[in-house]
Amino acid sequence: MLLSINGLTKSFQDLHVIKNVDITVEKGKVVTIMGPSGSGKTTFLRCLNGLELPEQGHYQFGDGFTLDFTQKLTKKDMLRLRRKSGMVFQSYHLFPHKTALQNVMEGPVIVQKKDKQIARNEAQQLLTKVGLHDKMDLYPHQLSGGQQQRVGIARALAIEPELMLFDEPTSALDPELVGEVLSVIKELANEGWTMVVVTHEVSFARHVSDHVIFMDGGHIVEQGPPKDVLEKPKEPRTQQFLTRIV
Ligand code: ADP
Repeated sequence: MLLSINGLTKSFQDLHVIKNVDITVEKGKVVTIMGPSGSGKTTFLRCLNGLELPEQGHYQFGDGFTLDFTQKLTKKDMLRLRRKSGMVFQSYHLFPHKTALQNVMEGPVIVQKKDKQIARNEAQQLLTKVGLHDKMDLYPHQLSGGQQQRVGIARALAIEPELMLFDEPTSALDPELVGEVLSVIKELANEGWTMVVVTHEVSFARHVSDHVIFMDGGHIVEQGPPKDVLEKPKEPRTQQFLTRIV
């Protein structure tokens, strides 16, 4: 087990967005989260790495690190949580005035205080891995959406996280660019990365993930292997959702 969460609860003022959710992420496995817009998927993902602070939730990592959000947490604990995962955002979130290479080097150099030359070499390797060896010195506005998102993936990998989090990584892309990003994510899955992916791509979820979670109204409605949840969903809400999007 890489991460096990119990009783995750998150509200924005009086809006209860995540309601007492439990989840276990096994090491080397891919979990996809699906569900209608507004069901709490993004908030859930952001709680996993501390971009949002839950009111309640007990986190246990495989290395023995635990957090209990009902207690006051130290800065050190939050930093440790943040460094466990790399996040890939729907709208890339690249620094516009930095090149692809500088974007990927930023985390290792600024946050992790890594030697610049080492960080540069590693960033070059990562950009090559995502198929951008000839685009390293270009700025985000000179890149297509698919290329920008691949920079986003390389940047998340650069901090050497234990867990990769993807928040609808292809939903801002033109349809012809979706495949190039999904194939990079698929390659990471084949390499054994542990990942949690929020997506509407049913075919990706079916072929790449080990575990599918269907969320609605801040609850996990149904979860299990993709062939069960996507092909023989038990819950009417899952069935309705899948007939609408497939
Ligand atoms: P999904 O990713 O499934 O579309 P979200 O997690 O983005 O769902 O949103 C769940 C609910 O939480 C929505 O009603 C949304 O408006 C609300 N919400 C999300 N972020 C905030 C925020 N920062 N402040 C207030 N409400 C928010």
